[in-house]
Order: sequence, then C-alpha cells, then structure tokens
Amino acid sequence: MMCAGLAGQRGRRVLLIEHHPAIGEKIRISGGGRCNFTNVGAGPANYLSQNPDFCRSALARYTPRDFLALVGRHGIAWHEKKLGQLFCDGSSRQIVEMLKAECERGRVTWWHPCPVLSVAREGDGFAVDTPRGRAHARALVVATGGLTVPKIGATPFGYRVAQQFGLPVVPPRPALVPLAFPPDLLARYGDLSGLSVDAEIACNGGRFRESLLFTHRGLSGPAILQISSYWEGRAPLAIDLLPGRDAGAWLAAERASAARLDSLLARDLPRRFAQAWCQAHDAARPLRELSDERIAAIARALARWEVRPSGTLGWNKAEVTLGGVDTRALSSQTMAARDVPGLHFIGEVVDVTGWLGGYNFQWAWASAHAAASAL
Ligand SMILES: Cc1cc2nc3c(=O)[nH]c(=O)nc-3n(C[C@H](O)[C@H](O)[C@H](O)COP(=O)(O)OP(=O)(O)OC[C@H]3O[C@@H](n4cnc5c(N)ncnc54)[C@H](O)[C@@H]3O)c2cc1C
Repeated sequence: MMCAGLAGQRGRRVLLIEHHPAIGEKIRISGGGRCNFTNVGAGPANYLSQNPDFCRSALARYTPRDFLALVGRHGIAWHEKKLGQLFCDGSSRQIVEMLKAECERGRVTWWHPCPVLSVAREGDGFAVDTPRGRAHARALVVATGGLTVPKIGATPFGYRVAQQFGLPVVPPRPALVPLAFPPDLLARYGDLSGLSVDAEIACNGGRFRESLLFTHRGLSGPAILQISSYWEGRAPLAIDLLPGRDAGAWLAAERASAARLDSLLARDLPRRFAQAWCQAHDAARPLRELSDERIAAIARALARWEVRPSGTLGWNKAEVTLGGVDTRALSSQTMAARDVPGLHFIGEVVDVTGWLGGYNFQWAWASAHAAASAL
C-alpha cells in the first residue's frame, strides 16, 4: 500500500492485488493493536541481513521523521513508549486507513480479495494471472511479506517468484520468536510461567538488555525475542542475571553471610526463580558454607547462565522472517532485481530483518519508498 500510494501519486497507473479478505492484517495485529509503526533511532545497525549495508540507502532516503510527517498529515496521535518506539495513541487501524487513503490519493486500482496465481515475463514487462483475469504491467513490485502467522495471509509466493526469475533466496526462518526449553529445563523452570527477570542476553554477536519472561514452554519477553533472531539453533544463550553488576564482587562482599544464596538473590530476582536456579546449581546453601571455588563458579554462572533452547515456537508465534530474497541480487537504490529490469522486491520478503521495536515497519516504508521513487 505504501509503495502503491507513492507510485500513484507520482502519476503511475497502479494495480494493487491482495489475496486476503482483510487489508493490512499484520498492521492491525501489530504492537498489541496500537502498531509500533517506527523507531526514532532506526539505522542499519538495527537490521540483520547477509549484507548488512544493503538497507543503508533506503533507510537514509526515507526516515522515521518522514513517516511521522505522514502520520501527522493524517492527524494520527502517537506516543513514544520506550527505546524510541512510536505507537498510535488510538488503534493500529488508523495506520491501515491512512495507507488506504494514500492509495486513494494515488488513484490506485484494487483487485481484492484476489490471489496472484502466476507471474510471467512479457516483452519488457510482466503478465500477472489471477482468477479475475490477466494484468499487464511494465513493472512488478512483490510485497508479499514473510511466512509468519499464515492464518492472516502469509504465503511463500514472493520467494517462488524470486526463484522463478533466478534470484537466490536466503532460507527463511522464524525470528522475534519465543524459545522452547528442552525437557530438563522445562522440568526445572516450567512452573515459573509468568515470572520476569531483567537480564542481559548475548548470542552470536547480538546483545540485549531487557526483560526475560518465563512461559509454560520456555522463554519469551523482549530480550528473548530480540536474541532469537541471532540464535541459529546451536550456540547457547549467555544470560547475565545481574546485568550491570559484578557478581564476583557482590558475592565476595556477602562472603561471611549466614543467609542462603537463594534468599540473597531474591533481593534482585523473583524468589521462586532464585530457588529453582540455586537448586540447579547446587547453591541453595548459606554462603559461608560454600568453598571459594564454588563461590567463584556461582559468580561466573550468574554472569553467564548458559541456556540451550530446544527450538523456537515456530511460524505461528514469530513476528518476522529472517532470510528472504538475497540482497546481492537487488539494487539497494531501487529494490529492483539486477538482472530482471522492472521486478522489485520490498519489505519483509527481502533478506532484511529488523529488531523488535518498530524497525520492521520502518524497513517496509523505506523500501517501498525506494521502489516507488524508481517506478
Ligand atoms: C504479531 C505481529 C506483531 C508485529 N508487530 C510489529 C510492530 O509493532 N512493529 C513493527 O515494526 N513490526 C511488527 N511486526 C512485523 C511487521 O508486521 C512486518 O514486518 C510488516 O508487516 C512487513 O510488511 P510487508 O508489507 O513486507 O508484508 P505484510 O505486512 O506481511 O504484507 C504482505 C501482504 O501480501 C499478501 N499476500 C501474500 N501472498 C500473496 C499472494 N500470493 N497474492 C496476493 N497477496 C498476497 C498478504 O496477504 C499480505 O497482506 C509484527 C508482526 C507480527 C506477526
């Protein structure tokens, strides 16, 4: 819708084809119904891709301020929640309505609901087959998103079009997704569901300090969703349970205490978690009864609790898709396939994946703007 509206307003004749009966469903369900529509700090460092520089140009040419100006023109009230995350005061439906109105301004024609069945090269342009008939176009913009939440419209169609035209696709996998405990950790921590801990989590170059939430299947919460995008299924998560503090120095200061470690930890961590963690680490005893070596090992484990998830909770629970159309095959200026003039890919279908916090929508708006400017 963003790309269609902008291209239409530049005088292009645009046909927008959407197969799902409801329009903009991902927007509607986003941000708990309030749509975290951008992040004031969005920059290349907030995105994962095989080519981390690919998003640079589009993000620089369409910034969070540009989107805020659009939101302002439509009189949509918003607020910053935390960490630069901007949300509607009212409802995420306002963003859907805004994009529909922008399409209207650009005199966009809709075929909706209408699936795209197939796409073919036709001279210098494209033919698109649908149950409503065949459409012909000089340019084709694929904005079919990722694979998350299939029940509201996600399909692998965009990846298939890419492959049909010889573009490589980085294998898609769920990201910003809760992680599952293996059976031993589930037995120990599964009944802590609902407890949250302020933690710093690191894995494969990612590092986030936010809350970690225990669930009846494993771990969730912002810190886990963020790090899930970096976890590739093998390396353990390294969880600092006392972020910003020196666990060794703290334990040394409490060295002579008659209190049990779990009671001391309960000053900073939920008591039931402190008890379960100390039991697992053979540390539910008075500090003064523990040897220096034990104390040193416990300090290391508090600063780096290694957790090996058994997997993710999959496409139904993930917010975004890692991977997608390989950016090496695309122009970062126009989002067009280098070897197929006129074929553009934008948004989540491309191998550019943002952090949690409004970054994915900012990529959708910015890449849409880049393509629309080139049509
Ligand atoms: C629960 C949830 C909450 C989220 N919250 C946020 C948030 O607050 N902030 C944020 O930045 N990001 C959030 N995201 C991520 C964000 O929604 C996506 O990154 C963004 O919507 C991607 O935009 P897109 O246009 O590329 O794809 P989509 O929004 O997925 O749109 C793709 C469209 O293509 C249609 N389509 C697919 N296949 C076909 C076909 N064959 N024919 C015709 N139409 C087709 C689909 O029906 C869909 O309407 C959230 C995601 C989820 C699942």
